[in-house]
Amino acid sequence: MRIKSKEYFKRALKSIPGGVNSPVRACKAVKADPIFFERGEGAYLIDVDGNRYIDYVCSWGPLILGHAHPEVIGSIYFASKKGTSFGAPTWQEVELAELIKNSIPSIEKIRLVNSGTEATMSAIRLARAYTGRKKIIKFEGCYHGHVDSLLVKAGSGLATFGIPATPGVPEELTSHTLNLPFNDFSAVEKAFLEYGKEIAAVIVEPIPGNMGVVLPENGFLEFLREITQKYKALLIFDEVITGFRIGPSGAQGKYGINPDLTCLGKIIGGGLPVGAYGGKEEIMNLVSPEGPVYQAGTLSGNPIAVAAGIATLKELLKPGTYERLEYISEKLEKGIREVLKELKLPYQINRAGSMLTLFFTKKEVKDFQSALTSDTEKFAIFWQKMLEEGIYLPPSQFEAWFVSLSHGEKEIEKTISAIYKVLKEMH
Ligand SMILES: *Cc1c(COP(=O)(O)O)cnc(C)c1O
Repeated sequence: MRIKSKEYFKRALKSIPGGVNSPVRACKAVKADPIFFERGEGAYLIDVDGNRYIDYVCSWGPLILGHAHPEVIGSIYFASKKGTSFGAPTWQEVELAELIKNSIPSIEKIRLVNSGTEATMSAIRLARAYTGRKKIIKFEGCYHGHVDSLLVKAGSGLATFGIPATPGVPEELTSHTLNLPFNDFSAVEKAFLEYGKEIAAVIVEPIPGNMGVVLPENGFLEFLREITQKYKALLIFDEVITGFRIGPSGAQGKYGINPDLTCLGKIIGGGLPVGAYGGKEEIMNLVSPEGPVYQAGTLSGNPIAVAAGIATLKELLKPGTYERLEYISEKLEKGIREVLKELKLPYQINRAGSMLTLFFTKKEVKDFQSALTSDTEKFAIFWQKMLEEGIYLPPSQFEAWFVSLSHGEKEIEKTISAIYKVLKEMH
């Protein structure tokens, strides 16, 4: 029963558009009402009615240590006792910048902001300033925050609700955005042949998570690196999800690619609002006050948020964490594959480390078009039934499930049995 959640939702609808402060939370795509949560504990979420769920949303990625990790909570507590914001530098910002730089070699200088959206918006401004060009290549189904120029055929909530573009963005602002299918070598080649000298940057989620998890085909990221270099355009990796999730140096470490600029967010704030963009020193030196490209923030580098980020990264960078994440995530993937085999269901699973999506389609999912072949009606039923089994999945087919270091064998086994039970009931 979720009586209190329903009451809060009714109230929320009167004061907040759709009753929520970010669209996918509304659970519309799975034909449910949003759940109001009271607290989190490790791998679990507890709602206002006292129901407990194993959580695979993990705040959409930031909580790689799980909810309310003692080191993170402690660091927030101690930082807050010294004051909440100074609007002036602190030594902790330097420490976070150094931690990130030491993990991700392509980042020589880095600027902290408050969200992933701010990071991609600023990186694009910087790329345009550095190259003196206007056009940006992005990929269908990739989501880079709600930056005006990037809100075309985007992933996340726009994929969930089937929104190709949003009102309020003048076409002049998206007219410099080229939208190409992910993993499509020839589309990229064609775009560069036609517009080569006008393209400032290619921005890409190296392992997309916002159309559900999709893996880059062999050589695709290397190809993006080569063609951007050839045409003197910048390569921007949006690692807001994959940064510190795929490994300490993100997807770029896994694939051995040095982008010119990298956007970060989510994990580097440990559940508090932090984003960042960084890259080659020569490019980053254009950022104000070192250079002319203006970008600022009242709360940028906020001491409490930075403390949560440092605590999270320090825990993550301890030996064995990524091995453990891989072990437990692989167990989940294998378990689901066995269920699918036993029930003779043709559905697809894509996994990269601790991010995974079960697509309700028999087609291999390698771009947005193939992701869209998923049966979202079936997913909605699956989601609702999983919720009744005490498992909270992202309320959309087109999102990644996140496994945290708090998810243990017990939680994985319970999840797999629930998936077996639910899928069996459904077919
Ligand atoms: C979440 C996300 C963003 C936007 O970050 P916000 O903090 O929500 O603004 C940008 N890019 C990617 C890849 C994301 O997953």
